Amino acid sequence: MKNINYESRYSYHKTVNNYSWPILLDLHLHTTKSDGNLTPSQLIKLVDKTDLKVISITDHDNINGLIEAEKEVNARKNLTLINGIELSTKYNDKEIHLLGYFIDIKSKKLKNKIKEIKEGRIEFSKKIISFLEKKKIFLSWEKIFTKTSGIVGRPHIAKSMIEKKYVSSMNEAFEKYLNDEKIINMKKFSMDTYEAIDLIQSAGGISSIAHPKSIIDFNSELKGFVNSGLSGIEVYAEKYQPKTQNSFIELCKKYNLIPTGGTDYHANMNDNEMIPGMNGPPYETFEMLKDRAKSIHKKNIGQKI
Ligand SMILES: [Zn+2]
Repeated sequence: MKNINYESRYSYHKTVNNYSWPILLDLHLHTTKSDGNLTPSQLIKLVDKTDLKVISITDHDNINGLIEAEKEVNARKNLTLINGIELSTKYNDKEIHLLGYFIDIKSKKLKNKIKEIKEGRIEFSKKIISFLEKKKIFLSWEKIFTKTSGIVGRPHIAKSMIEKKYVSSMNEAFEKYLNDEKIINMKKFSMDTYEAIDLIQSAGGISSIAHPKSIIDFNSELKGFVNSGLSGIEVYAEKYQPKTQNSFIELCKKYNLIPTGGTDYHANMNDNEMIPGMNGPPYETFEMLKDRAKSIHKKNIGQKI
């Protein structure tokens, strides 16, 4: 199992966290509303078994799980849900994922953009299926699509490749095929990172860059994002080791950003997958995020907090 980045969430080691704080926050979770395998309700039932006090569901390019999640969370005393989203964006040819927190799920601007992205994803997934056919991999787009909740992505295609035994793992599907430069270039991003930061802001939220280590030359792009309103960086991401975390902490200090984090849980059910509560920032991060939202939006924060 070579070529797997040790700090990637797909890495084959179990993460060992040596944090000095109890993990009470997990600000990066996926459900069946994007490419996760648990429904929002199932995810929250799993969270019940952890010490988590604050979670954010951050499905890719959609907010469809948040109402169901809110109902579940409201039935509990000791759990808070931050309305989240993870937007796929592009800047200088780099794919950058932007996490949004405290967003107003009724925002018209956000809803319209999400619709546009959804259509772009459908088109992209169809192009990938045709590309794979040239490599003698035959998958049915319709079958893949019916297993999604309308938000189709490369992980759905990877799962189908595993089912049909073209590959044996998600990692292999990505390393061998789906991270192919030709595929990446087919992706029609409807948003650049600046527009996404603006979109989150206009929906009353604040934003943080997800898993920044995967962004080449991140440091040189960061200043521009900060100037346009970025609030945080995901420091406690994937299986980042202390050295990596510290380098991002330094950037947070330099630009007055909030270090966020979470497991990026998808319920892939691999032995090496971090489960909710295994990674996350200190509890004070929650207070810092609320304070930042208040200072940007005053009383008009997208989600009542
Ligand atoms: Zn994610």
